[in-house]
Amino acid sequence: MSASFNPADPLGLDDLLSPEDLAVRDTVRTWAADRVLPHIADWYEQGELPVLRDLARELGAIGALGMSLTGYGCAGASAVQYGLACLELEAADSGIRSLVSVQGSLAMYAIHRFGSEEQKRTWLPRMAAGEVIGCFGLTEPDHGSDPASLRTYAKRDGSDWVLSGRKMWITNGSVAGVAVVWARTDDGIRGFVVPTDAPGFSAPEIKHKWSLRASVTSELVLDDVRLPADAVLPEVTGLRGPLSCLSHARYGIVWGAMGAARSCFEAAVEYARTREQFGRPIGGFQLTQAKLADMAVELHKGILLAHHLGRRMDAGSLRPEQVSFGKLNNVREAIEICRTARTVLGANGISLEYPVMRHATNLESVLTYEGTVEMHQLVLGKALTGLDAFR
Ligand SMILES: Cc1cc2nc3c(=O)[nH]c(=O)nc-3n(C[C@H](O)[C@H](O)[C@H](O)COP(=O)(O)OP(=O)(O)OC[C@H]3O[C@@H](n4cnc5c(N)ncnc54)[C@H](O)[C@@H]3O)c2cc1C
Repeated sequence: MSASFNPADPLGLDDLLSPEDLAVRDTVRTWAADRVLPHIADWYEQGELPVLRDLARELGAIGALGMSLTGYGCAGASAVQYGLACLELEAADSGIRSLVSVQGSLAMYAIHRFGSEEQKRTWLPRMAAGEVIGCFGLTEPDHGSDPASLRTYAKRDGSDWVLSGRKMWITNGSVAGVAVVWARTDDGIRGFVVPTDAPGFSAPEIKHKWSLRASVTSELVLDDVRLPADAVLPEVTGLRGPLSCLSHARYGIVWGAMGAARSCFEAAVEYARTREQFGRPIGGFQLTQAKLADMAVELHKGILLAHHLGRRMDAGSLRPEQVSFGKLNNVREAIEICRTARTVLGANGISLEYPVMRHATNLESVLTYEGTVEMHQLVLGKALTGLDAFR
């Protein structure tokens, strides 16, 4: 006998998940429902995340920080489990997923993969517990999509390093206890582990954002910040360092974007079933059903794609071009799903009483950070043709 059709899982993708995967998903979903969803509209409206440090500790307690890393207090989860967590967090809000992505996939990942044993022991356990928040400084005011041109400079002074420059649009910057900063040196681009109480370091918060309002975004100012010789990440030189961290974080976004899309889709279905016009629920009109059907198709195709990439990551065979494929498709489709959901909700679609507009505006940032649509098109274009069209 064939299984019954489940509207929440029309392709039966849950069959791909193990009991452990489902347990991780349920834990994160329950946490987000309890700790984020009741407050997120207010935080968004106020443009702040007042309990960020509490949330970070709680996320640490459920193993969500540096989740797929091993040792040093990290959970050692699979890539699929990490992806499921990202999806559930972003179904609550992209800002919460960003907090977790930057902590785990950018700051912790950089130290875990490229750091010295002492750097790992000093920072990773406290970061995994959410006691220390990390940020990742690559983007500069004049260098975004082209980080190879970054200007922040680290010069030698005796055995010390002295860092000067500015970083822009840095998630968690003002609340971070440690910043992983990428700077030019005489030997190429290097990563530095910078305690944020170092003299000369400051991180003014960027205000007036109309996207990711429940997320801290900052400038980093490095004004002759003096660091000891062992502040440099010893295991990598060149752009390969930051790019491999970004690839890990982008993988989480492939899943996360589908969380935002799922939240909007569910809001649209619920609204369409109950909102009546012309004497019947708007979900009974063919034009609305076409929207919902198309949204469901893209949503679950996107989740299937994320799952496939997760399995490749777990097998150690995931290519950066495949991550670009996933990020390009899933964020682009997620934003389209949110915009379509907005139309189903009519005027209510623009209200913070519903999650739709919040997710749609959040996804404008997600579309841009970790490589814009155009950058991922260029990555794929180069892979498909062998021709580099970046410059
Ligand atoms: C909320 C938020 C949080 C962020 N958090 C972080 C963080 O934690 N750490 C960090 O380092 N950065 C972070 N960023 C920065 C983000 O990674 C950059 O914004 C992104 O890389 C794009 O850079 P840019 O904004 O300077 O745009 P630009 O690079 O100036 O691009 C502008 C436009 O030109 C297009 N473009 C550029 N070059 C080409 C080309 N060759 N061909 C075709 N089109 C091109 C781009 O695709 C884009 O559409 C964050 C950004 C936001 C919005």
